[in-house]
Amino acid sequence: MRKIKESVRKLDTYSVPQDFSLIKLNQNESAIDIPLEMKKKIFKKLGKINWNRYPSATADSLIERISNYTGFPSSGILVGNGSNELIQALIYSVCDSEDRILVVQPSFSIYKIVASVMNIDLVEVPLRDDFGFAVDAIIENGKESKLMILASPNNPTGTALKIREIEQIAREFDGLMTVDEAYYEFHQETAQELIHKLDNIIVLRTLSKGFRLAGIRLGYLMGSKEVVKELIKAKLPFSLGVFQQVAGEVILENRKFIQSSVETIIRERSRLFEELKCIRGIHPIPSCANFVLFESKIMSGKELYRILFKKGVLVRYFDVPGLKNMLRVTVGTPEENDLFVKKLKQIAEGNL
Ligand code: PMP
Repeated sequence: MRKIKESVRKLDTYSVPQDFSLIKLNQNESAIDIPLEMKKKIFKKLGKINWNRYPSATADSLIERISNYTGFPSSGILVGNGSNELIQALIYSVCDSEDRILVVQPSFSIYKIVASVMNIDLVEVPLRDDFGFAVDAIIENGKESKLMILASPNNPTGTALKIREIEQIAREFDGLMTVDEAYYEFHQETAQELIHKLDNIIVLRTLSKGFRLAGIRLGYLMGSKEVVKELIKAKLPFSLGVFQQVAGEVILENRKFIQSSVETIIRERSRLFEELKCIRGIHPIPSCANFVLFESKIMSGKELYRILFKKGVLVRYFDVPGLKNMLRVTVGTPEENDLFVKKLKQIAEGNL
């Protein structure tokens, strides 16, 4: 299909198994859905507005509620169709094809996909052996990059940068530094205060994880008023429909209910980590997010993924260097975690 440009033809299709009949622990979603009473509130509000008209282009009501949640001024907030859309808008706005983007390796794959379509080179700085961030190497390699995107906590490792490290990197960096805080609710540390001190920091968030709204597609970005004013121009207008805007407004207004599920996930994360540590041949990495990455010394990651799949548990396998013997498991409900651990123990004991 030569009519499509080579940078796109070269890509693999982004695909993740989505079989809901399995114990689904492969996409870092929330295992618990939004309560029905909350969905009803959303439906009621949706029934009262016009669907024949375009949605609000500025999404002011939604932004006001995000501002209320984050304590960040609304003039510095931009909303998008999932944070994926904002990642794309950022890369479009900052880089031309001769520019470079610094990311760490391994990290969230969408950064690379968007950059590849635009023919933008990535500078990939490896994480340290313990999966921590190599701050000095990031600073050193940042010299030739226009944009830096660091997920903290990082996906798929769950490791995080300290706020003082983020500040140190941003101060030494000439370009725009994006801290992707998709897993903020499970870590509770944010770089957002730095935006008031340094004008080259952007913080990205999503409602797909802590807020349990992966199906709705809602993300937001915090930055200086000046940066946001420019980024709006590169983002497609009306990319957030009425459904997304209303769902986000209602959930944020009633956000108290998410606190208990976030606390459960954090508790379950520690329990899962401890349980994994006790399985012979399994080595989990301490995580600040809603998932745990672990190394398998029993067999290759791919093989372990396949056997777990056969036993009804879906986790994430990465076919990339450095992660061949590792799997990522999303923290599920206590029952799901118990089942996952049980199946993994069976495999470790040779019961395939
Ligand atoms: N950033 C990171 C680090 C992620 O892991 C993800 C989702 N897996 C996203 C962004 C995208 O989130 P969204 O659902 O808002 O597009």
